Amino acid sequence: MYTLGIDIGGTKIAGAICDDDNKIISQWREPTPEDPDEINAVIVEMYRKSVELYGSVPRMGISAAGNVKEDRRTVTFSANIAQWIDYPLADRIEELTNHECKVIVENDANCAGWGEYILGTGRGSKNMVMLTVGTGLGGAIVINGKLYRGSFGMAAELGHLPMVSDGDFCGCGLRGCAERYTSGNALEHFAKSAVRRMPQKAKRLMELCDGDINTLEGKMVSQAAQEGDELGLYAFGKIGEWLGRTMAAIAAVLDPDLFVIGGGVVSVGDILLEPARYNYVRFLQAAAYREHAKVLAATAGGDAGMIGAADLARIEED
Ligand SMILES: [Zn+2]
Repeated sequence: MYTLGIDIGGTKIAGAICDDDNKIISQWREPTPEDPDEINAVIVEMYRKSVELYGSVPRMGISAAGNVKEDRRTVTFSANIAQWIDYPLADRIEELTNHECKVIVENDANCAGWGEYILGTGRGSKNMVMLTVGTGLGGAIVINGKLYRGSFGMAAELGHLPMVSDGDFCGCGLRGCAERYTSGNALEHFAKSAVRRMPQKAKRLMELCDGDINTLEGKMVSQAAQEGDELGLYAFGKIGEWLGRTMAAIAAVLDPDLFVIGGGVVSVGDILLEPARYNYVRFLQAAAYREHAKVLAATAGGDAGMIGAADLARIEED
């Protein structure tokens, strides 16, 4: 069976036809329009091309940045697309494809986590938690080989675990969320504050941002840390520490065997993973008397979300 996977991102809509072995056999990419009707038109056009090439395409999985109801049909809220409030995305696409394609919609972090589970570092794990350290902190949970979605479709919002009482304000409206302390944004924040407090040690970071600390970006901090720069390493040590604490909090609930760390920031490898592992054990209950989950980098790549969405559509029960 050929299945269409669609990934609706903030800037582009990517689509891929996948075979039963989760191999991409054709793919497309278009800019993301703002209007929901225009987004639907892009998706339907990708479906039409798929049918033209491969005949029958009976299922489609859509990865969407937002909260998706437990029925996998309705987006309740999206930070990217303002008009997606209680928006029946699956119904719309099924109508536009004359009900010839069964559609499921799933949260983007869940799709990426599922892609990692079937194709990447997660293979063979029983209970896996994925944390995607991007601009924010995304989460996905696999329990006994199945994506865990919660009672209302809202599970695995791990970036919004309340870690600090009265802490920093988060984009979600709450305070002290994990992603305020472990994310690409947090990396920049820790690096900037270190430069301001220790300007005598900030030579390399100031070079990389051409002398304007306000323009310092995560990738510059990554470069400095990889060169062995003290403040760059300090900033990674801080987000690594908070990542470890966050994993320990998750382990108190789920006791997984594997944490997979994804997102652009993890390209520095052990510079992030070592402090994360160290602090995971440090904050883990009864650490000396239990097995410890592995903490490994993601390996499935940028198409994992799209392939994960297609696979979730394929295995969805009627
Ligand atoms: Zn939050």
